[in-house]
Amino acid sequence: MTTRLRAACIIGWPVEHSRSPLIHNYWLKTYRIPGEYRREAVPPDRFRGFVESLAACGYVGANVTVPHKEAALAWSQPDDRARAVGAANTLWLDGVLRSTNTDVEGFLDNLDSSAPGWDRNLRKVVVLGAGGAAHAVVYALLQRGIDHVVVANRTQRRAEALRERFGARVHPARWNERNAALDDTGLVVNATTLGMAGQPEPGLEVGRLPSRAVIADLVYAPLVTPLTRAAKARGLRSADGLGMLMHQAVRGFMLWFGKKPEVTAELRTLLEADLALPQASSSE
Ligand code: NAP
Repeated sequence: MTTRLRAACIIGWPVEHSRSPLIHNYWLKTYRIPGEYRREAVPPDRFRGFVESLAACGYVGANVTVPHKEAALAWSQPDDRARAVGAANTLWLDGVLRSTNTDVEGFLDNLDSSAPGWDRNLRKVVVLGAGGAAHAVVYALLQRGIDHVVVANRTQRRAEALRERFGARVHPARWNERNAALDDTGLVVNATTLGMAGQPEPGLEVGRLPSRAVIADLVYAPLVTPLTRAAKARGLRSADGLGMLMHQAVRGFMLWFGKKPEVTAELRTLLEADLALPQASSSE
């Protein structure tokens, strides 16, 4: 590698499935920035050593995906957002190694762009899931001022942990109560792995939702999920996982390469074409 190139990477284990290189290399080309974005397959026992030698490896920063998001928080100086969520997905060097969580704004920016006004008079949201992505989603919703967030998760204890972390506006629910919670809900978010290729469907009775409701699905492989298909069939607005994936990438690019990139239809088309190729399912 020449010293003139600014380089960033995605660190995961496995990492071959990640679409982040497509996104960042598209932006590097679009803005004619001499840089590179690569994949780095790093097993958990090598993660700390790898991030501590990021600069020596020629990197100005990195994205972090499964299973390293909690470790990324532990081995860096997190901002308030990453600390509140309990996980980091973006690292950058600024004298020290800093971290943040861009799933938070990725989720909100995608909803704002796909379903403008989604939060107007919104009183209640149902979130499915209590894993890493659900933490970012719940934090984002509370930051946006939503008063009542129901979290339904297969493992009840993990839904309760979200209330302990984020407070009384979070209402844990049993997994088999998820449909009963839909009647007066303005937004439903799927933050589970259900609906991914090879996984069962989330089993939501979309017909119970009010006609103004919006559905957000974080899953993006397949591109059209059982939930976004059901939303379309009922005439409900939806925000898909691919949109969130593009929006969460914006701040990392800004931090590493100094330019705020745009989420464009052309970028989406590029990613859609890649997702249409036969390959393993994905998670970021
Ligand atoms: P995670 O931490 O492993 O959490 C997985 C969640 O799915 C847990 O709540 C788990 O419930 C639930 N789940 C798994 N199998 C289930 C089943 N058979 N029945 C009911 N619930 C089940 O994963 P994550 O990192 O939060 O990711 C969740 C999803 O978000 C993935 O599809 C990922 O690709 C997506 N994601 C997308 C973006 C984006 O930019 N679009 C960003 C981040 C994540 P238990 O707690 O009971 O195990």
